[in-house]
Amino acid sequence: MPEIAQKPPLKVLLCSPRGFCAGVVRAIDSVERALEVYGPPVYVRHEIVHNRFVVESLRRKGAIFVEELAEIPDTDAPVVFSAHGVAKSVPAEAAQRNLFVLDATCPLVTKVHREAEIHQRRGREIVLVGHAGHPEVVGTMGQLPGGAVTLVETLADAQRFAPRDASKLAYVTQTTLSVDDTAQIVECLKSRFPAIVGPHKEDICYATTNRQDAVKRVAPQVDAMIVVGAPNSSNSQRLKEVAEREGCPRAALLQNAGEIDWGLFGNIKSLGITAGASAPEVLVEQIIAAFAERYNVDVASVSTADESVFFPLPRALRESEAAE
Ligand code: SF4
Repeated sequence: MPEIAQKPPLKVLLCSPRGFCAGVVRAIDSVERALEVYGPPVYVRHEIVHNRFVVESLRRKGAIFVEELAEIPDTDAPVVFSAHGVAKSVPAEAAQRNLFVLDATCPLVTKVHREAEIHQRRGREIVLVGHAGHPEVVGTMGQLPGGAVTLVETLADAQRFAPRDASKLAYVTQTTLSVDDTAQIVECLKSRFPAIVGPHKEDICYATTNRQDAVKRVAPQVDAMIVVGAPNSSNSQRLKEVAEREGCPRAALLQNAGEIDWGLFGNIKSLGITAGASAPEVLVEQIIAAFAERYNVDVASVSTADESVFFPLPRALRESEAAE
C-alpha cells in the first residue's frame, strides 16, 4: 500500500461578521428584482458593488454596466445607481433624458449626503474625510456646488487645512474608512477647530466598524490573514491594513482562491479569514476548500457582533412586489 502523506493541521478562524452588508444586499437585490420585473436589459451605472464575481453574475442575467449615463441609449429600461451613491448631476441628467431610475444608493451613504446639505444650508464650510476618486466621495462632494466641500485624506491634510471661517465648519466622512485613522483625523480637526460640527460618531457605517473589530480580534491570533475582496473595494483594503497593524505577519487581499500565493500561505499553522462588505460568501467557501486540499483544516468562527440591519428595496421595486 502506498503511504498516504499526512496533511499538516491548519486552524482557520473565520471572522464574524464578514462579507455582505445590508447596503450591498439591497443593491444586488435591486438589480435582480429589476431583471425579474422589467426583463433585461437593466442598465447599472458603475459596478453595483465592488466585486467582479457579483458583477459578472449579474451581467450574465442581463445587466449592462456603464460608467456614465451618456453610454446608455434612449430607453425605457431601468437604470440602477450603484450602492456608492451619485452626484446630484447624475439624477438631474437622468430626469432630463426621461430615464427610469432605480436608486440603489445605500441609505447610510444617503444619510451622509443629507448631512452635508444641512451643513451647507446652515452656512458651514464642509470637510469630507475620505479617499480621492472613490465613487462614494465623488457622489458626496457632488451633492453640493464645487468648492463647498474640501476633501481631507490624511492626518497631514487635517493638520494643514485652512478654513475660511473656523467658527462655521462641519465635517462628514466616507462610510468605509479605517475607524482608527479617521478617529485621529477627526481628533486633529476638533483640536484645531473646537467649533467644528460633526456627526454623533463618524459616518463610518456599522458594517465597516464591525468587520474591522472582528479582524482586530482574530489577526493577533493567527500566522496569516486573508481578506476576500476586490482591490477597488475601500472597506476590504481597510481590513487588510487593520490585520497588518494588529501584527499579523502575512495579510493578503484576494479576489478568489485562484489568487492564493502558496509561497506565502503554504507553511502556516493558523489562518484568519474575513471578507469585505461586497464579497459573496461563496468566495470564502472556495478559499477554505483550497486550503482543505493542502491542510487538515479545523474551522472555528470568532464573532464580535450580531448584525440584523435590513434595508428595503427602492420604492418602485417594493410596489412591484406588493402588486404580485
Ligand atoms: S459598506 Fe456600509 S455604507 Fe457601504 S453599502 Fe455597506 S452598509 Fe452601506
